[in-house]
Formats: sequence, C-alpha cells, structure tokens
Amino acid sequence: MAPKYWRKPLDLDRIRVPRGHIVILKERCKGCQFCIAFCPQGVLKVSDEFNSKGYHPPAVVDERNCVACGLCGLLCPEFAIYHLEEQMEVGGE
Ligand code: SF4
Ligand code: SF4
Repeated sequence: MAPKYWRKPLDLDRIRVPRGHIVILKERCKGCQFCIAFCPQGVLKVSDEFNSKGYHPPAVVDERNCVACGLCGLLCPEFAIYHLEEQMEVGGE
C-alpha cells in the first residue's frame, strides 16, 4: 500500500533515477532475508529454490524497480548480493 503522505522533490522531472541490475550469489546466501526486508523498492522476494546449504536465496520480483541504492549489498552479512548500476547514455544539452 502506498504511504498516505509522500513528499516528492520539486525538480523530480529533471532527476535521472539510477537503475540497477541485481546479482545474487545463491550459494553464499544464508536465508536471513535482510535484503528482502529492507529493499526500499520491494525488488526482492524469497525464492522457492534451495541452495546446497538448505537456505532459500532471494529472487528478483521486478528488476525495473531497482534504483541502484546498494542497500541490499550493504546489509548482506554474507556478501551474497550486489547491484550493477545501469550505464545510461548522457545526452548533449
Ligand atoms: S539496490 Fe536498492 S533498490 Fe535495488 S534491489 Fe538492492 S536494495 Fe533494492
Ligand atoms: S541478505 Fe544476503 S544472506 Fe541474507 S537473504 Fe539476502 S542474500 Fe541471503
């Protein structure tokens, strides 16, 4: 559910929102779900699959929502997830 009050920057139309590609190293994951719980964009969910240690690694719900904030990688205690920021072409002004 969307928050009731939400403040948007006044210059939002001039801001380029970064996008990220998520890399998950499934065998390192211990299933703590920190990355899932704290992703501000709801990009991740618990997957149905098991790794060899018997944990459920995260899965990407919709990568288009990733804003490349890097929080998932910062919080992961096993260094099992990180993002690659999408490179966009810079247009001339
Ligand atoms: S980089 Fe940020 S927005 Fe993207 S999946 Fe990780 S926590 Fe979510
Ligand atoms: S924070 Fe790391 S160890 Fe925890 S579920 Fe996410 S990828 Fe796995």
